[in-house]
Amino acid sequence: MRQKIVAGNWKMNKTRDEALALTSEIVNMVRDEVRGDVQVVVCVPFVYLTSVGKLLETQSNISLGAQNCHQKASGAFTGEISAAMLQSVGTQYVILGHSERRQYFGESNELLKDKVNIVLENGMKPIFCCGETLEQREQGIHFDLVCSQLTESLFHLTPEQFANVVIAYEPIWAIGTGKTATSDQAQEMHAKLRAHIASKYGAAVADATSILYGGSANPGNARELFGQSDVDGGLIGGASLKSRDFLDIIKSF
Ligand code: 13P
Repeated sequence: MRQKIVAGNWKMNKTRDEALALTSEIVNMVRDEVRGDVQVVVCVPFVYLTSVGKLLETQSNISLGAQNCHQKASGAFTGEISAAMLQSVGTQYVILGHSERRQYFGESNELLKDKVNIVLENGMKPIFCCGETLEQREQGIHFDLVCSQLTESLFHLTPEQFANVVIAYEPIWAIGTGKTATSDQAQEMHAKLRAHIASKYGAAVADATSILYGGSANPGNARELFGQSDVDGGLIGGASLKSRDFLDIIKSF
């Protein structure tokens, strides 16, 4: 059985007090309402990792995640955060290659390869994001494009390393737009990605890889999405900022 995962990506939201209040609500609700086989992750802004991590210590099936890290181990990179720093404050997952990072910060598949390496070297799990624009989908190049994002950033890994990678398919046209992919569109792409992984690493590795869907997922559509055979959970933006919505999504398996 593949690991079911629901990860919240808070992006650049919440003040400290708001972040702690939201975390406490999530901890209490997960403890009372969530069965043990779903791995919950909260990917918070860097400055809250330590304090949010403290609150999570009481709840073993919620993990701490970051939203990015620098590709180099250390050095003169003013303002940047290294993988070793993240690991040292208890971070377990790191979102890499989110489309907002690719679009606004120029992150390429080549650069992401280095970020994936350093996150794995530091014993954390990358949540590797891939996805196409609406234009690319309309041109019919979306399957090739998304598969090549995996090939170029991940397929240098050994099977043992790849086993620690989580994939998140996030069609760019569905992010923050309220326009979610249909469950058929999500299933179709997830199945393609799993077949692509199998072509490189074999069926056993592909079958064990968690592939999450992201893009306007909400309590109203999560059950339908998570009901697809190749959708193993979600990477949730806006709806992860409200504890009740986030919990209802977690409970949608
Ligand atoms: P929304 O759920 O707000 O569409 O964002 C999805 C996302 O980008 C998660 O990483």
